[in-house]
Order: sequence, then C-alpha cells, then structure tokens
Amino acid sequence: MSFDTLGLSAELLRAVADQGYREPTPVQRQAIPVVLEGRDLMAGAQTGTGKTAGFALPLLQRLMQGRRDRAPAGRPVRALILTPTRELAAQVRESVAVYGRHLPLRSAAIFGGVKINPQIAALRRGVDVLVATPGRLLDHIEQGTLDLGRVEILVLDEADRMLDMGFIPAIRRILALLPPGGPKGRQNLLFSATFSDEIKRLADGLLHAPVLIEVERRNSAAERVTQLVHPVDRERKRELLSHRIGSLNWRQVLVFTRTKHGANRLAQQLERDGITTAAIHGNKSQGARTRALADFKRGAVRVLVATDIAARGLDIDQLPHVVNFELPNVAEDYVHRIGRTGRAGHDGEAISLVCVDEHKLLRDIERLIGRSLPQEVVPGYAPDPRIPAEPIPNGRNGRSRNDPGRSRPGRGRDGGVRGRSAAAPRRGKSRARKAQ
Ligand code: AMP
Repeated sequence: MSFDTLGLSAELLRAVADQGYREPTPVQRQAIPVVLEGRDLMAGAQTGTGKTAGFALPLLQRLMQGRRDRAPAGRPVRALILTPTRELAAQVRESVAVYGRHLPLRSAAIFGGVKINPQIAALRRGVDVLVATPGRLLDHIEQGTLDLGRVEILVLDEADRMLDMGFIPAIRRILALLPPGGPKGRQNLLFSATFSDEIKRLADGLLHAPVLIEVERRNSAAERVTQLVHPVDRERKRELLSHRIGSLNWRQVLVFTRTKHGANRLAQQLERDGITTAAIHGNKSQGARTRALADFKRGAVRVLVATDIAARGLDIDQLPHVVNFELPNVAEDYVHRIGRTGRAGHDGEAISLVCVDEHKLLRDIERLIGRSLPQEVVPGYAPDPRIPAEPIPNGRNGRSRNDPGRSRPGRGRDGGVRGRSAAAPRRGKSRARKAQ
C-alpha cells in the first residue's frame, strides 16, 4: 500500500517522498484517515512505529484545509502537541517541520532548560503548530506570552510517560485553557504505549467518541529486536560491557542505567577504558544533552549512557545496540528502552547485564512481554554463585545502592515526580519540570 491512497495532499506526499518513505507504517495507515476525518483518536503505539508522522501529516493537512488568510502577527496556535520530555518535543517539532516543508505553516517547540526569550519571540511572530512540554508551557501561560484559546487540534504524545512523570495535573490545567472539544469542537489525539486505568480515565474525559487503534500488541517488545541476557556479577558488569564493546567492535551503543549518578560513573569508567562515552540525564543542562546526542548520532562518541527519562523520545536512525546495564525497576521501561533499537524496519540487538540482585526484575519483564529471554554466559564472566543477592530499592522512587541521592524521599529517577499528583507542577521550578 502506498501513501497516495490515504487522502494526503500533494505537498505532504512530496515531503514523505523526500524522506524516502515508501509505504505507510501500520499506525500511519490506520491513524491518517481517521485524523483527516476530524475524529478523535486513541492510539496504542510506541516510539519507533512511525506514530509521529501518523499524527503530524493529517494534522498539517487539516490546518491547511481550515486556513484563512491571516496577518502573521495575528496567527494563533491552532495545533498543540504535548510531549513528556524536551528531547521528544525537539524531535517532534523537527518532524513537523520536515513533513510541513512544502506548506506555509510555522511550527515551534517550547521546553524548559533553555532561555525563554527566544521562545517568546517565536510565539510573537506567530506559530501554527506548537510542540511543548507541560511545565514550560505553563510558564508561558503564567507570563501571558501564550494564548491557547484558538487551538483546534490537541495531541498528547506518550501519555503514559506524562503520567509517570507526574504531569497529568499540569495537563488538566492546560486542557482547561483550550476551546471545548466534542463534535465540531477541538479534535483530540492521544498516543500512549500502554493503557493504565489512569490513562483511560484521562482519555474518557478528553476524547469524544474516539476511534481506537492499537498497532502492536499491548506491551509487546519490538519484534525486530534480538534480546539476550548475560548473567554476570554486580561488580563485573562494567568490565563485561567494555569487553563486549571492544571485542565485538560495537560502534554505537545506547546504555541504560537506573540513576543519574550511575550514568555519570559508568561514563567515566568507560572513558578510562578508552571508549568514547557521553552521559545524558536530567541533571545535565539542555545544551549538554543536545551536544551529547549530536555527538552520538554523528559517531563522535561510541557510547551514550542514559537514564530512562532522558532517553525518552530519542530517535537515532539505525541504532544497532541497546544495553541494559541495570534492569529498570519498572518492567514497562524495558519495553521503552529496547524500542530505541530495531526501529523503522532495521534489526537491533538488546543486551541485558543481569546480576543476582535483579532476578525478580527480570521475571517481571518476562511476565510483561510474555516470554522468557534467552540467557548466555559470556566465557570468563560466569556469575559466582556464592555472592548473595542484595536488595534493590523497590518501586518507582527506587535508587541504586550507591546513588547518593537515594536517601531523599519522594524523588523519582531523574528527579522527576512519578505518579504523584499532589506534587504536580504548579508554580516555580517544580521537580517534575526539571525532569523534562
Ligand atoms: P516515530 O515512531 O514517529 O518516532 O518514528 C520512528 C522512525 O521511523 C523515524 O526515524 C521516522 O523517520 C521513521 N519513519 C516514519 N514513518 C516511516 C515510513 N512510513 N517509512 C519508513 N520510515 C518511517
């Protein structure tokens, strides 16, 4: 099936062809006609499925259809796309710009960690499609630099992540500022990799007679990703990782740690082993995060060590290797992590280094994905059976044993507030906003 049959305009088809896309992905096939019809949509789709084009292409077309000639200065925001992280906001905006390159529409991204003034200037010049993280969006609202009263289409991207990061109350505040939904009102599109009861509640209040689409089985791990577990002792993981990278000559590896401190430490150790490495997490400035990602993408650094939240939305073409240096405390994060590889039709490999402390986490993951993961002991790295398991802090606020930040109560990974609506971003620099 080709893109031509979906009802997209010539300009959009040209942009798609410019990108080299030959046929729509399953989420695009299903979502594009629904969005073009003006219906609300609830889509179960993970990153890597092509979901961004699935909403961006028809959204741009609808904005063109409803476009009236306006003086640029009076150009209101007509489509609002909310994302949980800065990286995802930047990437979605880039996609919107790419898909809309032959259209006279303007887009901008606003997120925290960078100066607000250039964003204010961009908003003043007029923006049709605004991509934003919730915290910075509310900053603009409070400063009176943004009016959402003319929004025609709302997209909540990665809604499950927004929930995890404590953004749902912020989103509810934002929703209250938008024109009403419903027939002939604002159109709403919600994308989420998983559907918890809380996401369903949010969807119930937001979506009107939505069309439901689900492109991959719920919580299924990416099919093109080869998954493998290497059992290894806790203290030998770093050595094994360096050994794998060196002996197999991996050139581009995304490595996940559970904590920011762990990410920094591992990056330093790998550097000492002669492997160029950068770390990316919520304590790094936005500039440092952008630089690290750019260096990694162009091959200037071989390893990028990331925490879960910082890695959200990373889209790296043909990323061949993902390593779970530590298993995540939350099994769903495993699916998100390995979804960084095997994207857009390319094969990928996801390796998990699992020590005796992590057997329960591994079982949780296997239960979630509905199969057991193959295990392979690397010669010379067989775990010592005399080493007893040590507890890993449980739950979403868990931190690793060596993380100095772990005694602070109530802080999630990356300093984010996870699922705690009482501490949702309101005013000033809340924790959840810093996590973006
Ligand atoms: P997403 O799930 O939106 O993050 O997209 C994942 C990747 O798939 C991005 O690198 C896109 O450029 C790519 N992509 C999106 N749609 C297509 C398509 N129809 N054919 C090939 N690649 C695509």
